[in-house]
Amino acid sequence: MLGLMQDYPLLTHTLIDHGALNHGEREMVTRSVEGPIRRCTLADVRSRSLRVAKALERDGVTLGDRIATMAWNTERHVETWFGIMGLGAICHTLNPRLFGEQLDYIVNHAEDEIVFVDLTFVPILEALKDRLGSVRKYIVLTDADHMPDTSLPNAVAYEEWLGGVDDDFAWKHFDENTAAALCYTSGTTGHPKGVLYSHRSNVLHGLMVNQPDIFGLRSEDTMLAIVPMFHANAWALTFSVPAAGARMVMPGPGLDGPSIYELLDSERVTATAAVPTVWLGLLQYLEQTGSKLPHLERVVIGGAACPPMMIRKFELEYGVEVIHGWGMTEMSPVGTTGKMKHATSTLDREAQLKLKEKQGRAPFLVELKVVDDEGRELPRDGKSSGHLLVRGPCISRGYFKLEGSALTGDGWFDTGDIANIDELGYMQITDRDKDVIKSGGEWISSIEVENVAVGCPGVAEAAVIGLPHPKWSERPLLIVLREPGSEVDAEAVLGYLDGKIAAWWMPNDVVFVDEIPHTATGKIQKMALRKQFKDFEFSN
Ligand code: ADP
Repeated sequence: MLGLMQDYPLLTHTLIDHGALNHGEREMVTRSVEGPIRRCTLADVRSRSLRVAKALERDGVTLGDRIATMAWNTERHVETWFGIMGLGAICHTLNPRLFGEQLDYIVNHAEDEIVFVDLTFVPILEALKDRLGSVRKYIVLTDADHMPDTSLPNAVAYEEWLGGVDDDFAWKHFDENTAAALCYTSGTTGHPKGVLYSHRSNVLHGLMVNQPDIFGLRSEDTMLAIVPMFHANAWALTFSVPAAGARMVMPGPGLDGPSIYELLDSERVTATAAVPTVWLGLLQYLEQTGSKLPHLERVVIGGAACPPMMIRKFELEYGVEVIHGWGMTEMSPVGTTGKMKHATSTLDREAQLKLKEKQGRAPFLVELKVVDDEGRELPRDGKSSGHLLVRGPCISRGYFKLEGSALTGDGWFDTGDIANIDELGYMQITDRDKDVIKSGGEWISSIEVENVAVGCPGVAEAAVIGLPHPKWSERPLLIVLREPGSEVDAEAVLGYLDGKIAAWWMPNDVVFVDEIPHTATGKIQKMALRKQFKDFEFSN
């Protein structure tokens, strides 16, 4: 027997409808690519999203067509998202930090027809345009006055293009499982793979992150959405902020410490989210200028392990709650967040800060488990590390145009992360499975050694890789990038690690480099480092 409730499909554009109807006066503030701060309201954004959909339809776009964006976080970018998805087309976010060949592959694989592009990225597409055969139009996200002289074929200024239509348009109706957005994972090996979100997964994920123990957005909040819309769905902020009726502030291209601080301060931001690298820039700026963060209540940090010193600085020096999060593109992307809970509220401050170093616990709609090499579930004891598997309604089951399932036989997605889960449900990532160091049959957590090493004075960044060793099969090599002007040496770094990590985890050697290579999404490229140091011989 079926229930007798309404058949109300979960469609992405209903989020902006809700925001505009119930919080239409709420502001969206953007540091524009052209320079000045621009302000509009949620009602304006909905109206202009409807115009985007109408103009795309006029241009012949229909259900299932792929329309790409290569843009910073701005209100125009938000409008294109809702407009594309509300028409039933698929919004494909292009990460401008990818290499040319990868972008070329992705655009052709997705068969993108139209690309919305920010001024900053026009030169990237100009260099690739002859290879992007499927693209028939480029819409530059600016007005006629700022329109560059470009070699992109069929290029038009966004405001002029939008000026041709009004907002008298009705969103299309379709099944909630219809594809809404496409985002390729950077793929450290092989070609990038397309993660294809549905309307249903977008809506559920947008609601999921607004649970009080996750990002907990309220209509009183002002959220500075720094995590880019071109990387892993901007952690769902484009959806969760209008759903909550919160005020949204977007940094455009200004991701440096001073620019971020200026927005946090002048816009009285209460919550924000970004990867650790961005916060390093802000913390440096705060230290140099002696500035404080009187309005900011909480900061979400994820995408890479949050260094312990960052948690301490925010919490102890600036009084800002750190919400350490973990996830991946395939998970829409939020997988866990590390807020305290009832059972941990009585812990002393030191123990709580230590707990925040873990990646956190699962929200409702994410299931986690850790299994051994044979697929047997490991106990939740905070010690037994294994392959981290996940399942839920906002998690991929396959990739765009790739045959077959991406799941294990019993329906779980293997994250490729190595982790343990403790008795209270807090998960801790110890490694990526391809980066694992196995010494004498036991695992060494490269992430934990790196976390401690970056706390050593004079160390700017640290990476640990495993190299072959005659006796132990593998041993760790610590690769360090010094802070400018620092002369910290191997002895000092090893002395600092001594006593802070297990004795048998101590790196056999420390080498200093001028640069640590990163992927397009800001992660250390361990594979490149392993290649660079493949002939390295340990001194012991
Ligand atoms: P890519 O960078 O490959 O495009 P994602 O951005 O989806 O892909 O990265 C997902 C991976 O990033 C996770 O599987 C995990 O290894 C790593 N990651 C994300 N957040 C954290 C975190 N808080 N701590 C440690 N690793 C993290």
